[in-house]
Parts: sequence; C-alpha cells; structure tokens
Amino acid sequence: MALRPYIVGNWKMNGTRAMLSEARAIDRAAQRHMKVEVAIAPPYTLIHAAHREAEQIGIGAQDCHPGEDGAFTGDISAPMLADAGAKFVILGHSERRECHGESNELVRSKAEAALKAGMRVIMCCGESASTRDAGKAVKFVTDQLRASLPEIEDPDNLLTVAYEPIWAIGTGNTATVADIEEMHRAIRALLVELYGAEKGAEIRILYGGSVKPDNAREILAADEVGGALVGGASLTADSFMGIALAA
Ligand code: PGA
Repeated sequence: MALRPYIVGNWKMNGTRAMLSEARAIDRAAQRHMKVEVAIAPPYTLIHAAHREAEQIGIGAQDCHPGEDGAFTGDISAPMLADAGAKFVILGHSERRECHGESNELVRSKAEAALKAGMRVIMCCGESASTRDAGKAVKFVTDQLRASLPEIEDPDNLLTVAYEPIWAIGTGNTATVADIEEMHRAIRALLVELYGAEKGAEIRILYGGSVKPDNAREILAADEVGGALVGGASLTADSFMGIALAA
C-alpha cells in the first residue's frame, strides 16, 4: 500500500520556545489534511515541548549519537531522543557531513542506533555543484546512500530517503523536475536492490532544497517523489502548510 506524501520540516538551528506557537499551528492545520503526513524536526531543546503540544504530527530530531550513553560531552543519544518524544531522526544531512565531517560509516551507525531505539530514520543524500557539473551526480549519490543506509528487515515505514542537492539547499535554486526524476529513479533502483522488489518500492523518497509553497506542486507531482524535506519554508505554519497542501 502506498504511504501518504510525507512533508517534513527541518528547523535546523532555529527556534526558541516562542516558536512552539508555529508547531501548534502546524499541528492544527495538519489535522485538517490527513491525506498528508506532516512532521517537524525542531532543535533538541524544543523536542519534548513540541511533542507534548503538537500531538498529531510527528516530532523528530536532526541528529543523534551512535552510542546509548556514556562520556560524550554535549552529545545526545537515540534512546534519549525517543524518551523525549522524538519519533524519527534526520541523518546524513549535508550540513552535518560538511560541518562535522560525518562519514558514511558514522551516519550508518547512527541510523542503526536510531532504529534500535524505536525511531524512524530519514536518510539524506546529495551531491555538490561541482560533482553535478562533472556529470557524476547519480553515481556519487547512489554510492553515498549504499554506504550510509542501514540493514533493516522491514524498511517501508521505518526508512525514508531524502535527496537534497547541496547547491539547492537554502539558495533558492531547485533542481529541474527532469533532474529530480532521474535521481529519484536511480535511488529507487538502489532501494529495490538493497531491500528487495516489494519493500524497496514502498520506501518514500523525499526531495529537499529550496522547496517553497510556489514550487511545491510541480516538485511533489514528479515521478518517484514521495514528499519534501523543507528547511527555511518550514519555519512558519503558513508557508509550511502551503507546501503540505500542494502534496
Ligand atoms: P531549504 O533546506 O529548504 O532551506 O533549502 C532544506 C534542508 O536542508 O533540509
């Protein structure tokens, strides 16, 4: 059975408690549009409060440590996130891969920790502008995913992939529909190879990178696009739900 379109807000390092009013507004609006699955990943500091105040939408995290507990100053483990109410974790985002030097192996071990703690995983992938210009985008992204994706028996509702070309994040540039479809088809072929024809066909592949209410309809209608991972435009309920309504 095909899963509902999945629209996920990545708040990044934005939001103090005042932003909980946006989470509540997103939650209220999402209850009127149940054909779409809506979720937000606020910063760590807001996860518990958002989980309590926005009960219908999924609340998730933007990262986790691969271990369970121990002497890792400043880190947060997957069981801690689950305890705070997080239902999913975004992993392998290009900002973590770039700013924190996260390797595919580390990302994969974080994914395994998140699944073990009972959370779902949104696995990000994406190429730089120079990789795309060199004509190597599809190979780069499928290699990156192959090395980052966890082994899992039943991935369909536990695993989501988000394709986010790095040059499209926060820039106002989006990939063309033809480029998105080419990449998503290649990712689909990889998922079928890794998880089998039936299970690999069910996993949703989100597009991310400057998705806004005015371009969402075209992007979300593209072949193999199962939703969107939204940064900047997820920070207000109005623009975020404008995207959800386009799904
Ligand atoms: P953006 O970010 O929508 O602001 O481009 C997307 C993301 O990085 O997840």
